Amino acid sequence: MVFDLTGKRALVTGAGSGIGEAIAIRFAEAGAQVFVIDRDEPQGEAVAARIREAGGSAEFHCLDVSDPVAAKALAERLGSIEVLVNNAGIGHVGGLLETESDDLDRLHAVNVRGPFNLCKAFVPGMLEKGLGSVINMSSVGGLLAVKDRLAYTVSKHAVVGLTRSLARDHSHSGVRFNAICPGRVETPFVKARLAEYPDPEAAYHEMASTQLNGRMGKPEEIAALAHYLASDESAMVTGSCQSIDGGWSAGK
Ligand code: NAD
Repeated sequence: MVFDLTGKRALVTGAGSGIGEAIAIRFAEAGAQVFVIDRDEPQGEAVAARIREAGGSAEFHCLDVSDPVAAKALAERLGSIEVLVNNAGIGHVGGLLETESDDLDRLHAVNVRGPFNLCKAFVPGMLEKGLGSVINMSSVGGLLAVKDRLAYTVSKHAVVGLTRSLARDHSHSGVRFNAICPGRVETPFVKARLAEYPDPEAAYHEMASTQLNGRMGKPEEIAALAHYLASDESAMVTGSCQSIDGGWSAGK
């Protein structure tokens, strides 16, 4: 198989829903042993169970990624891994006038301290073995400013900075660090919000209009890129921030 992940132990945060769920499923299909991590127990358990029912290997662990002590304890329980996907993230709508200092802190705790905490817990083991792939979920908002998403844009720019910094300091070790920067993705959450509009189709096209190809991405399309970055075929790729946004970041 191309991009075979057999023998790799892969941890995916925020795997109880949306993009993280698609990544966990795809990794398991490619042969990885998957650790489904989420703070939402029923959702995470359900994803791990679905993977096992399909013949894959998965176990769920409940974790709030903003908690450094719990992240370290999880690393002690699980031991070494070869792939770490820092996908868990939260959003906030608003520009300066609608954003409070607390909103900035709340997003920073999950979107930035989360990946940092997981890296602190799991990357030392990767460095020791000289092997590993760390994939941080940023956003098009990590590369340019998204309208009325001040706190989110700030946090996702920080994810790009974190990824580049890790790659700058540690790529000589054999461990790789990359960021994925999706545009709008049609997750179950986005679908549910669209369904609330009087004209869901018009709302879809309005939302997707930032992307030059006029449509939203699918979680499975983001998972395909994560799959490549997790595999040994991407051995030359480190320190990169991969746009997957239907052309949004190319400019208007
Ligand atoms: P989602 O809301 O569908 O899923 C996020 C998952 O993360 C949920 O299961 C949630 O329980 C979990 N989570 C949230 N906070 C957590 C915490 N503190 N600890 C552990 N788990 C936590 O989100 P999604 O749309 O699939 O987005 C996944 C990632 O992709 C996020 O980082 C998001 O910013 C990024 N992203 C999403 C889009 C999009 O359009 N959906 C676009 C660009 C980037």
